Order: sequence, then C-alpha cells, then structure tokens
Amino acid sequence: MGAATRFQSAGGQRGALALLLCCVACGPGAGPPEPPPVNVVLIVIDTLRRDHLSAYGYERETSPALDRLATEAVRYDAAISQAPWTTPSIGALMTSRYPTALGIRGERNALSDELELLPEALAGAGYHTAGVISHSFLGSDWNFDQGFEVFDEEHVLGHAAVTSEGVTEVATRLAGQLAAEAEPFFLFVHYFDPHAAYVEHEASAFGGAGDYAGEVKSGLLFKELRGMTDRVDAEDLHEIRRLYDSEIRFTDGHIGRLLEQLRGSGAWDDTLVIVTADHGEEFLDHGQFGHAKSLYEELVGVPLLIKAPARLGVAPGVVEEPVALVDLYPTILEVTGVTGPDDLEGEPLLPVAPSGRPIFTETGRGGRGFAVVDGGLKLIVQRDGSCELYDLQADRAEQTDLAEARPADVERLGALVEEWREAQRGKVKGGAKVELDRERSKRIENLGYGGD
Ligand SMILES: [Zn+2]
Repeated sequence: MGAATRFQSAGGQRGALALLLCCVACGPGAGPPEPPPVNVVLIVIDTLRRDHLSAYGYERETSPALDRLATEAVRYDAAISQAPWTTPSIGALMTSRYPTALGIRGERNALSDELELLPEALAGAGYHTAGVISHSFLGSDWNFDQGFEVFDEEHVLGHAAVTSEGVTEVATRLAGQLAAEAEPFFLFVHYFDPHAAYVEHEASAFGGAGDYAGEVKSGLLFKELRGMTDRVDAEDLHEIRRLYDSEIRFTDGHIGRLLEQLRGSGAWDDTLVIVTADHGEEFLDHGQFGHAKSLYEELVGVPLLIKAPARLGVAPGVVEEPVALVDLYPTILEVTGVTGPDDLEGEPLLPVAPSGRPIFTETGRGGRGFAVVDGGLKLIVQRDGSCELYDLQADRAEQTDLAEARPADVERLGALVEEWREAQRGKVKGGAKVELDRERSKRIENLGYGGD
C-alpha cells in the first residue's frame, strides 16, 4: 500500500472527527479561528561532529543549508547526546529515556514494545507520521518503527553506500503528501553519509587530495582506517578530515533540498524543524577512530538547531547552557500541545531552555562508562570506578584531566552519577534481542562494530 493511500485512509476518520469538533467550537460567540496545528520535522544526521559544521564556526563551509536554517533557529552550543552510538542515542531521543532504562548495551538490543515512542504519542493525537531511515540500527528489526504510518527503510544499504540523495527523494515526496493533508504531520528523516566509510564527493571536495600520496583513500573501510591508528601522521589525518567534510557538505546539500521543499509548501511557518546528530566521530582526539567507546565531546557533543513555529515568537539565538537529546520529546509535546507519558526524563527546551540541570550520557559498548555535565564541568566514570574530570569552559577538547587536582568536584559529580545510575536501574524496560542472519551480521562487522 502506498504512502498516499495510507494517509488518506487514516485521515478520513480523523477528518470527520475534526469537522465535528470544529462545529462545536465555531458556534456563535467563538473567538478568532485557531491556527492550524503545528507540524514537526525531525532530521537526524548520523556521526556528525558539531565542530565540523560552518553553522558552528568551522573553517570550511561544510553546511550552507544548516547555516541558513541557523539564522531562523535557536542554535544550542552544548547539546549532549545520551550515547555515542546510534541505537541508544536515537532510542533515548525517541523515548526520552536513558540507554540503561532502555536496556540497550550492545548492538543486538531492540526497543521494548511497551514504550510509548514519540511518533506513537503524536499518532495518538491525530498526527500523520512518516519516517525515512538509512541505518539498520534504528530500523524495524530494532523496533524503531513503532507509531509510524510509513517507515521507509529502502536506503538502509550499509556503510559504503551513498544514500543522502535517495533519502531526500523519499523525504521530499512524503513531505509533499503530508503538507497536502488536513491533519498535522510528523516527519522523521535520518541521514547516514558522514558515517565511515568517508567518500569524496566531486562537488564538495574542498580542493581535492592535492599532492597527498598516503594510504587514506575515498571509501576506505572503517576497519582499514582503524588498522592505521598507530601509524597515521598529520597529513593522513588532514586527508581523513577532508573526506569526512566532503560527506557533510554533500549531506547538507540534500538537507537543503528538503528544507526548500518545506519552505515552498506553505507549511513552513506552522512547522517545528529540529536538526541534530545521534553522535559525533573521533579522529584520534583521544587515541581512537570512530565512535561508541568513549564519552568525550567529539562523540557526545552534537549539533542542535530548532526552528520554532512562527506563532511562538521565539527569536533566533544561541543557547550555551547544556541541553540533552532526551529533551526533544518533551519539547515537541510542549510545542504541539500533545499529551505524552508523564515520566519522560527530559524537559521542554521551548519557549525557554531550562538551566542548572545535570545532563547524563553513557555507553555500554567497548567497555562501560558514564558521564555527567554540570556547572561547566564534566566527570567521566569508567566501570572500574576510575574517573576523569574536565573543565569544559577552559578545555573543551578535554586534554587536561583535573580529577586529581579537584577531589571535591570529583566527589560531588560522582555522587550525581551514582544517584542517577541507581534511579535508572529501577526503570529498566528492555526489548528483545535482534536476530540477524549471517549476511547482515557480516555487514555490521564491516561497519567496525562486530567483535568490539
Ligand atoms: Zn550513529
């Protein structure tokens, strides 16, 4: 069944209900007509470092489309993902719960059926819901399709494929159909190209390889890149970053097409647009390539732009206070007026971002670690109890560990982590284990995940 058919059949009943409600509300003496409900567009770019976007001051112009969006949006300069890899990060975003409570520790943990995901809450309030994704780790096998009328997984093609164009084709088609419906919509779009393997795109090559003659090549598999960890030099790293930036610029161009379509649809002013990433990427900032194993800023610091619907009167600006991806679900409920579960972990970021809260993040892969950001400091606690403390204001690159020098801060933040972990252990609602055939296991291994 095609997407259009499904929207019409679902919309028919709700349309009749809406008409009935309108007749009741529009009787004599009723005030001015209500504005149309708010639509929601949520764009998540996989593996996108905040500090590699020109929208955040990066030296290369990697993100002209997002730079333009940023002029109309609130830009959050210290947004923190709740995990440094896809499934728990997007799981936390879609449920407003932490990875421990979701039971996601390894790559085979799916979301529980019992959770009420963001699209389920919106669908329950009469929203049309559509998702387009490009990585199996947030696919239907991992139970991320809950609440979506249309869930497109056609572009889950593995690490080496270039998918932004295809994802955008589907997303723009769906956006056109959704904007033509009488009911409000939620559109979720997930892009994957900045994830390894990094592929050079001709139109965004940033000068090309020049006279570089080392072993870094466009399309290098992640396991090959990881194999170079001990021998890369500054020129190799420069080339790796150039290829990564080429992927970002390429993806940004396609996001720009989607944003243009939305601007032209007549629904722009009534649409909440959110752009973020599930996590970043490390280029030996702390000794490794890739992501998932540690909780440093290059991995859990993510970009976040929120363009509010015009009626809220939210002025574009910058929020420096730390915020979390678990805040997005409550933010969307707040702006749309939809009621969701009453035990969400996050807080609404609009109309004004909350301040003075500790923000937590964690990983269960390649070891186990937890971190808290509070009062400009970040404490990372490993499973064995060892700690690192960083002053994010003075040392955002987290190069100087202050744990020994500031034991009182370690103790205070360590107590916050302990208390939070204890609370999370009481909330676990885990899903099933994902069963994979050999071919798909092999593909995941090629992503560099398997066996870690
Ligand atoms: Zn990811």
